Amino acid sequence: MNKSQAIELLGSFQHFCYRKNKIDDFRRAAKTIYGQEWDVELDSGQRMQFFCTICNKIMNHVKSMCDHNRSGSHLKNICTYKPRGVARKYLNLRDMLESTNAKAIGLQMVEEFYVPGKLYYKCILCGYHEKMEAMYNHVVGTEHTDKYIKMRVDCGTHIMSLKQREDLRTFIVNEEGIRITDIRQILGKSARRSIPANELLLKDMIKTNGGPGPHGPAL
Ligand SMILES: [Zn+2]
Ligand SMILES: [Zn+2]
Repeated sequence: MNKSQAIELLGSFQHFCYRKNKIDDFRRAAKTIYGQEWDVELDSGQRMQFFCTICNKIMNHVKSMCDHNRSGSHLKNICTYKPRGVARKYLNLRDMLESTNAKAIGLQMVEEFYVPGKLYYKCILCGYHEKMEAMYNHVVGTEHTDKYIKMRVDCGTHIMSLKQREDLRTFIVNEEGIRITDIRQILGKSARRSIPANELLLKDMIKTNGGPGPHGPAL
């Protein structure tokens, strides 16, 4: 089952939620789109429901699974989740996005700055810069998603409903994929040069390395 098949199947969940013979398909689809922690079970009325095995939470709808998957409590549980006794620590934003199967769009507009011991991120689209976890929340969040959708799709200036946003997100993901590998990595001297001088955290991180140069991109 590929991602678009999984998305399509999940879209039909309300229609098939009593079809027990489809439970394996929905299980595979949920794992494909939302991560291995998701399972599908039957409730007492023989209706299928999604189950987050990390948080022990039951979700009756795809939308609530989707919302739960991006919630702070779930992400926190995922970060501290210890499969086979080994602490899961994300290496970088790419690792975090891959591990959580987040459907983030516009990732090609994210830059990663790396100097030894520190990772820092900038979203060129939104002029937002932050550390890994905050950047994760940013790229899966509403503001960034809406901005990218409005850049890619002619959808007017009205405020999007949740359903419209998720439909357009799915449309864009189907069109261009999830561009995790397009997160531009900037290392070493170039990373230091690109770091804004007014970024206090970054000043700390580079003060032993001669300070930032004048060529940083405008925020
Ligand atoms: Zn969870
Ligand atoms: Zn952004």
